[in-house]
Amino acid sequence: MSTLESTNGLEQIVAADGFRAQPKGFATKAIHVGQDPEQWTSMAVVPPITMSATFKQRGPAQHSGYEYGRTENPSRNVLEKCLACLDNGKYGLAFASGHGVATAIITLLKAGDHIVASDNLYGGTNRLLRNFCVDMNIAVDFVNGTDLEKVKAALKPSTKLVWMESPTNPLMKVIDIEAVCAEVHRVAGILVVVDNTFLTSYFQRPLDLGADIVMYSLTKYMNGHSDVVMGAAIMNDEALYKKLKFRQNETGIVPSPFDCYLVNRGLKTLSLRMERHKLNSLAIAKFLEGHPKVKRVLHPGLPSHPQHELAKRQSNGHSGIMSFYLNGDGLEESTLFLKSLKVFTLAVSLGGFESLAELPALMSHSSESVEHRSALGITDGLIRLSVGLEDVDDLIADLEQSLNKL
Ligand SMILES: *Cc1c(COP(=O)(O)O)cnc(C)c1O
Repeated sequence: MSTLESTNGLEQIVAADGFRAQPKGFATKAIHVGQDPEQWTSMAVVPPITMSATFKQRGPAQHSGYEYGRTENPSRNVLEKCLACLDNGKYGLAFASGHGVATAIITLLKAGDHIVASDNLYGGTNRLLRNFCVDMNIAVDFVNGTDLEKVKAALKPSTKLVWMESPTNPLMKVIDIEAVCAEVHRVAGILVVVDNTFLTSYFQRPLDLGADIVMYSLTKYMNGHSDVVMGAAIMNDEALYKKLKFRQNETGIVPSPFDCYLVNRGLKTLSLRMERHKLNSLAIAKFLEGHPKVKRVLHPGLPSHPQHELAKRQSNGHSGIMSFYLNGDGLEESTLFLKSLKVFTLAVSLGGFESLAELPALMSHSSESVEHRSALGITDGLIRLSVGLEDVDDLIADLEQSLNKL
């Protein structure tokens, strides 16, 4: 059941769980955009995988649009079109990994430029900004993205990029993307990049909220089957697209056509998978919140989450990623808990069909300094879950038997 409600003068459909109702036509677009069988002579309904590294030319410099596999590839183009459409964007570019996207975006900057980044990012992005950027003489300041005044105060005349994730990893803080974009865009020439990996275009479309570039680790939900490492950037501005496309070819950070085929296939079930991730993770969040061995649960879909209202206004739902603090908060206890799990696999990464559990302090966020981690609240008792698509009763039973060992 959906009801119409008015927020900020805009009519929006609200679903029964309080989040914005699902984007209209999403599943149809995911299945059909860029996939028209009339594009290839075989009329294959499933887009063919084109592995060819080179393409025949009718005369010198008379090619069909495809010349060399690094520059353009038909399987990559099919995927890029579909990805762009799902984010309500005009242009999509696929890269060899999520970090490949980040690297390509950073090559748009030059020595002396400045980046403002959210202080609670994917561990590897944090590492890239702290090491590579600094080596390239690009300055980076980290700020709490949920505090608009701090973001504003961090902007300098040399600022060229503002980088954020929402919800943040692994603390699930929700950043008001629209407010940050509006503030940053008061100053001309600063690009806002939103890493939308955690929610996907099904649950959140940052370009509609004012972002300049949406980036993904497609490795996670967008592919959804934990068998590909890939990334993408989506944007509306043609000049920006041309620059980044040039960089895609120039730096050579391109994905394999076979991987493009797999991610394109993954998109066909994205809406179904995300609905199930959402249901499973909310049921688990509620279970954990009521458990005596758990101190605190971080899940934007819970009314106890500090930015629950913002999450509901900004997104169409929350995925399977959530975190929680064990009561004990010690390494011994969290290790025992993680080693006792039987259905959840102890592993980094997220967004696949399978449920995963990990310890950010020693795993995904181990490259961050101890001081930075403790300032943020990434303690030895903080567990991050990627809730998969299994039967939720089995997942809850698994967490329960493991908690009971403590
Ligand atoms: C995994 C991840 C990345 C990095 O992507 P790779 O595909 O592993 O290179 C970036 N951001 C977020 C939020 C991620 O989860």
